[in-house]
Amino acid sequence: LEQELRAALANQEFEPHLQPILDLQSQRIVGFEALMRWRNPARGVLTPIEFIQVAQRTGLIISIGMQLLRQTLKEFTALIKRLERADLNISFNLSPSEFLQPDLVKAAARLLQEFELPAGSLSFEITEQVIISDLTQAKLVVENLHAIGISVALDDFGTGYSALNYLRVLSVDTIKIDRSFVDDLERNSRSMMMMRSLSQLAHNFKIKAVAEGVEWLEQLASVESHAIDQVQGYLIARPLAMVEIDAGWLDGIEQRAQKLLSHLRFA
Ligand code: C2E
Ligand code: CA
Ligand code: CA
Repeated sequence: LEQELRAALANQEFEPHLQPILDLQSQRIVGFEALMRWRNPARGVLTPIEFIQVAQRTGLIISIGMQLLRQTLKEFTALIKRLERADLNISFNLSPSEFLQPDLVKAAARLLQEFELPAGSLSFEITEQVIISDLTQAKLVVENLHAIGISVALDDFGTGYSALNYLRVLSVDTIKIDRSFVDDLERNSRSMMMMRSLSQLAHNFKIKAVAEGVEWLEQLASVESHAIDQVQGYLIARPLAMVEIDAGWLDGIEQRAQKLLSHLRFA
């Protein structure tokens, strides 16, 4: 796999797929999360679960991630022109070693400049693993990213051992509440209380709360009633190759989401 990953890097076989993020107040798609896919000539399109661990262990993730970030921002520049939606944001996942590499901030700044993208349109998603790796450095990177206008989201929030402590020590802009809390939301009152508490917690810190993995209408209803700001999940849309996205697809998703929400609000 390591050899294959090296070849894939040389052949630029990694590509960004995008999953839309819906804002519940404005009822609009406000951005996307970029998800890495590997278009393997022999095996088809692979998701990260099939290769990311090896990429991380071998350190290849740094070069793969940098190549993908470049590709993502390049395609995103074309996308927002094509859609005439300069207001859209893009969120990019970084493993700890990518986030903590010494030249991340400079590299990101350079790319934004090259593609003439406003820094406010980019955010990085990190997990608590980053903080476990090196808290001091993590704090510094967050500060430096903020200084140039890039925001930071805590991914898979709530699944770690001391999620609350991370909120105390790192000034992030968003928490992404893990799918496991959304999963049984409609039938588990404790998950519901957790969702409400996490949303209040986020708002007390003046940060945005995003719920991940919303698949069912009942989950959307529940998430909405707990004042979550934004949602993401198969109910809204599945990830799609960025090059395939067009205005018709996005309008369709937005209109369907608006119908779902008005259905909930009248129900
Ligand atoms: P993640 O950051 O938590 O991303 C969300 C995952 O949930 C994605 O899986 C997405 O396709 C999936 N998902 C979205 N909505 C739903 C839903 O409604 N139900 C269910 N069951 N799943 C949903 P994916 O694309 O396979 O990515 C897996 C993980 O790989 C990501 O988890 C992230 O940790 C990592 N990853 C993805 N892209 C990158 C990247 O460019 N760089 C790095 N370092 N890691 C990445
Ligand atoms: Ca993520
Ligand atoms: Ca996540």
